[in-house]
Amino acid sequence: MKLVSFEGNRIGALRDGHVVDLSDLVPADPGFWPPVGMVQLIAGFERLTPEIDRRLARGGGVPLETVRLEAPVKWPNKLIAYPANYQKHIEEMASSNRADKNAFFLKANSSISGPADAIVLPDLPGREIHHECELGIIIGRQGRHLALSEARSVIFGFCCLVDVVIRGNEERVYRKSFDSFCPIGPWIVTADEVPDPDNLEMELRVNGELRQKANTRDLIYDIPHMIAGASAAATLFPGDIIATGTPEGVGPIVSGDELTITIQNVGSMTLRVEKETAK
Ligand code: MN
Repeated sequence: MKLVSFEGNRIGALRDGHVVDLSDLVPADPGFWPPVGMVQLIAGFERLTPEIDRRLARGGGVPLETVRLEAPVKWPNKLIAYPANYQKHIEEMASSNRADKNAFFLKANSSISGPADAIVLPDLPGREIHHECELGIIIGRQGRHLALSEARSVIFGFCCLVDVVIRGNEERVYRKSFDSFCPIGPWIVTADEVPDPDNLEMELRVNGELRQKANTRDLIYDIPHMIAGASAAATLFPGDIIATGTPEGVGPIVSGDELTITIQNVGSMTLRVEKETAK
């Protein structure tokens, strides 16, 4: 199943090119702040599945191309990210980091943006702002101190994720936490539709030019290790997001660029890049 957020915090599922609205299935209606409808849907998904299936079987919905998609999860408990998780990226950055030794960092939840939003670059003359193409994991069940053998059971689904970063020496969390520096989407694909997440082709293009191309089989710290490792420190909650690290080919983006991320079995989204305008 593919789950979307759309048109002002509505939540829905895709059926045959149509969006079927599921907003009324959760306590937080679309006008409620904070926007936690999708987190509630994920937390209650097992219980809600029969009703969701009934609605999808009934048909209807609005054509996907007529709605404005938003970040599928807007208000997770946390956005975890792993650095230096592909060998060739470590080499291109001449980095002494490695995901299996450094563990995770966090990005501000407020850096999350959606498939129809621009990546907005702050005005920082002389500084490079880079794209990082990453598979995003969405957590489905609460867990702490998870064993490697149970780590996969807490995965709800996957999304495309671009980890945008200003290169430089400030704290990493600062350089990666500007508004719009974590586009996710275009939807969440539930785990049952991704038969082998350890073997997914992914690529990122800027203005059509191929910049990054890799396969998740080359992850140093694999998906179960990332989940179990994160849960050793912090309780994972439904809706939490894990950015799994980027392969080689990172590079600068500038205002006017158009960036496309594509992940096998997950989806694709094209994002425009803009300069921040003075307030
Ligand atoms: Mn990254």
